[in-house]
Amino acid sequence: MLRVTFAHIGNSYIPLRALLSELGLEPVIPPLVSQRTIALGTKLAPEFACFPLKVNLGNYLEAIEAGAEGIFMAGGVGPCRFGYYGELQRQILKENGYDIEFLVFEAPKTHPLELWERIRKYFPRHRLFDMARAIRIAWLKAESLDRVDRLANRIRPQAIDPEAVNRLQERFYQKLDQAGLTVEIKAVTSQALAELNAVKIRPRPYSLKMLLVGEIYMVMEPRVNFHIERMLGEMGVEVTRTIYFSDWVRDQLVFSIVKPDWRRKFELLARPYLGNFVGGHGLETVAHTVEAGVNRWNGVVQLAPFTCMPEIVAMQALPKVSKEFGIPVLTLIIDEHSAEAGIRTRLEAFVDLLAHRIRRKQSKAGGRRFEALSGY
Ligand code: SF4
Repeated sequence: MLRVTFAHIGNSYIPLRALLSELGLEPVIPPLVSQRTIALGTKLAPEFACFPLKVNLGNYLEAIEAGAEGIFMAGGVGPCRFGYYGELQRQILKENGYDIEFLVFEAPKTHPLELWERIRKYFPRHRLFDMARAIRIAWLKAESLDRVDRLANRIRPQAIDPEAVNRLQERFYQKLDQAGLTVEIKAVTSQALAELNAVKIRPRPYSLKMLLVGEIYMVMEPRVNFHIERMLGEMGVEVTRTIYFSDWVRDQLVFSIVKPDWRRKFELLARPYLGNFVGGHGLETVAHTVEAGVNRWNGVVQLAPFTCMPEIVAMQALPKVSKEFGIPVLTLIIDEHSAEAGIRTRLEAFVDLLAHRIRRKQSKAGGRRFEALSGY
């Protein structure tokens, strides 16, 4: 049985482990991203490569140490560098003595026949029945993860003990990873949702609502974004992440075939500020920021890896969006030199600024006194 690995992105290892096992491969899950992972990848990668590429390389090296024989990854086309990640990473690993097979799978709309040939070649269980079952289980797990994470982000800022929410999430991830049957997945999810809803909360008269936008890897991988959702939640901010794994799969694998104009909404929202698809999530970053302005959110945080072209393009448009809609935007550029203390300090200052804006509006309106909210 081929032992395959893949790079971490958030908790997607849970549905991906289920998918690969059901298709007859043996998944080798690399250790969760750590300083060692980043150091290993940074040593091999070109200095100006995108930060996610460096972390991915670190994942692969740690998985090879654990016995991985092949690397499973998604391919891509478009203006950003993701399209040649696979080949570049293969060459870098080869030059450093790791001649490992890359199993690159493109989205079905690009080359459907080629995709089917690859599936037949690599997956021992590729009958339609096996594939349907594998996709169903992986999809259920991906959806469950996202439902629980969404709820956790809503509960955390109000929780008397925000750490309790984090502990509940971690316990849920472990149980979901172990669940093999549909019925088990549903039971684990219902239990986690019920436990989250039962967390003791201290209702707040006001809440700060913030949108998290930016490059997919930075938004979804908590171990490179310093657990930004938890950090902000503990500061009393309700965070809404704009990219979830199940949404990404739905858009890229399903909507790109059955609803090819799924990106239209983003194009329309972003149009006055950015007229083209610029790769990655650059267009979505601008569109979501416009949406946040229209819907009167309190602020937006943009996460970008160092040297990410689409996010750099989006960054040029954001000051105008921010000015026209009166929505504060904080951009955080993250790379291997970033440290938690620096990110925390900038977030605290941003949250202070937003709370100050609310207080000022309150006093101008002569309405209820803005209560000094702990954590703001
Ligand atoms: S979106 Fe940015 S970081 Fe991600 S592959 Fe493209 S250029 Fe690199």
